[in-house]
Amino acid sequence: MKPTHASLPLRVAGEGQDGGTFRVLPPVSCPQPSALSPQSVFLQLGEFPISIGPGKIHLRGPKMKKTSYCLLLSVLACAGASAQTAELTLTRLDCAAPNPTPSDVARFSDTYAYQDKKVQLTASCYLIKHGSDYLIWDTGYPTKESGLAQGNAPTVQTPIVQHLAKLNVKPEQIKYIGVSHYHGDHIGQAGSFPASTLLIGKGDWDALTAAQPAAGVNPAPVKHWVSGGGKVESVPKDKDIFGDGSVVMLDMPGHTPGHHSLLVKLKEKGTVLLTGDLAHFHENYDSNGVPSFNTSRHETLASFDRFKAMAKNLKATVIIQHDARDIDKLPAFPAAAK
Ligand SMILES: [Zn+2]
Repeated sequence: MKPTHASLPLRVAGEGQDGGTFRVLPPVSCPQPSALSPQSVFLQLGEFPISIGPGKIHLRGPKMKKTSYCLLLSVLACAGASAQTAELTLTRLDCAAPNPTPSDVARFSDTYAYQDKKVQLTASCYLIKHGSDYLIWDTGYPTKESGLAQGNAPTVQTPIVQHLAKLNVKPEQIKYIGVSHYHGDHIGQAGSFPASTLLIGKGDWDALTAAQPAAGVNPAPVKHWVSGGGKVESVPKDKDIFGDGSVVMLDMPGHTPGHHSLLVKLKEKGTVLLTGDLAHFHENYDSNGVPSFNTSRHETLASFDRFKAMAKNLKATVIIQHDARDIDKLPAFPAAAK
């Protein structure tokens, strides 16, 4: 990130004699803005403890002269500016099996809605870059080499690590892998990122780590984390991943007990909502269709209600991860939405 010049009106709360609104002049250069967390940071400058949060700097301490305030603000404005301008991009990574053909989708309705219907399905993973941090959302089908595909389940055509190599991103640079849910087409390549913190809904984590996992719950692709070898954070509700509201895991249970969708607030494109498997294709989304294999019908319907209200309020682009018709809602790889 380039040095940021700060000339921001800042509201100062505190006990200083000149507390009020200041414009920081002259602009100053930030030496190392990338070293600052986008979340609130706390530091001590001389005898003055200072906390910085989005849009607010709080000075606690004895009275200070206005010139002291301005000097401090010149430095702190850099933190504020860099905190609010972390670069955010979203790239779709194809995680589909080779040569997908239109699929029979009858099983995606428990009301016999799609008896003779075929839909071109895909599988999508996403790379999200936030400042210098990377998150991968969903890890797709497993590779053939991993031996993790069960029965005649598909394997991925191009492994995520190969996509990343084209972007000059190494697996160890991925800070988080967030998964919408525990199904094998979403956690298949998690094992390629052993150094990453696994973010997963609490209901799903509990299912994976149960003494006797239920039918359809296969912890093998995430055994590195289940066995205690990797860092994991089970997410009970929503999770603001980077602390600035730009990337949020949304609690959308029903497909599985801890299923999540993902909100990504991009500066140019606006808000994008990635469904996870809340819905699998357009007709499924439009009619609030509940697959016969979901873990809870009423939770699915409540999640549809919340998700659609959120999409409307935020004027979001909704991307159904499995629907091939939604692939071009994002720029074609390797380009990223900003
Ligand atoms: Zn899926």
